[in-house]
Amino acid sequence: MNTAMSDAASDSPRVPPYGGMFSAIVPCRDEREALPIFYAEFLRAMESAGAENFEIVFVEDGSKDGTLEYLRELAAKDSRVKYISLSRNFGKEAAMYAGLRAARGDIAAIMDADLQDPPSLLPQMFREMREGGYDSVATRRRTRRGESPARSFCARAFYRVLNSLSSLKFVEGARDFRLINRRVIDAVLEMPEYNRFIKGMYEWVGFKTKWIEFDNVERCAGKTKWSFAGLAMYSLDALTSFSTIPLVVAAAIGIFFCLLSSVAIVLLSIRQLIYHNSAYGWTSMICVIFFLSGMQLFCLGVIGHYMSKLYLESKRRPPYIIKEKN
Ligand code: UDP
Ligand code: MG
Repeated sequence: MNTAMSDAASDSPRVPPYGGMFSAIVPCRDEREALPIFYAEFLRAMESAGAENFEIVFVEDGSKDGTLEYLRELAAKDSRVKYISLSRNFGKEAAMYAGLRAARGDIAAIMDADLQDPPSLLPQMFREMREGGYDSVATRRRTRRGESPARSFCARAFYRVLNSLSSLKFVEGARDFRLINRRVIDAVLEMPEYNRFIKGMYEWVGFKTKWIEFDNVERCAGKTKWSFAGLAMYSLDALTSFSTIPLVVAAAIGIFFCLLSSVAIVLLSIRQLIYHNSAYGWTSMICVIFFLSGMQLFCLGVIGHYMSKLYLESKRRPPYIIKEKN
């Protein structure tokens, strides 16, 4: 490290190239094809940022395509490469958590292996953090070009629902890709929950954040690991991790139908007393039963979902298990 340079910028010494160490955390599941491209591109970005003190923490998350073998080779050649291999596929959230825990940098960023979080943004992110004194420099996609219209539509709807149900503000198109300093890293690591949603955690811990935008980049090689059902479940988990309003809605539906039924009881009793004609109405009765049974099951499902999360949290299982690391 160049000490003259770090002395010169002693007011912000913890951001490369003037000091401090940067950790890139890269969760990888079946990324054998993308990794060499990522590695080359990442080194180019470090060079253009003038950063020499960095490490790359690859978290291999249950790959079956030789990703681990490639990482072993890479680590043998380059001492800045660290890898952690998980005992099976634990999911991207668990992999990111494992990486954050292993990172030793003063600042860190989680990056996808497929270049959808462009390393070329890093020099600008370093600069923003250094000069603006930010704790976190976050990225969001301005466009979703190249993504299927159905997925874009669902993503937009998800952010709308999430924002209306949570007191936190979630930025649409936000990536997990953020440059964060030690304060933010430690704050996120202090959240020990099993059901993790890192974008929400970044918002929850707060700190001074700068947003930068970029145009969507398509995956450089390989294919996406997310199925539609997988994304839907992830969205549901995110929603219930950062909001308990669905429970309030369930209770509100219950109160609404109680009020409605008390009015109905009074009106129908009076009608029966006057006209004695209650035999009619089988169809409407069945409709009401179907509707209310559906509502009840829906509300039970909402409560059940929270209970299942409580159950998983209460088991206190580790979010991931490490099989091998260097
Ligand atoms: N990933 C992971 N474990 C998983 C799924 C994904 O580590 O179970 C990694 C994947 O290798 C990639 C990043 O998470 O580096 C983002 O995944 P992907 O590109 O498939 O998601 P998309 O960009 O389509 O949302
Ligand atoms: Mg991707």
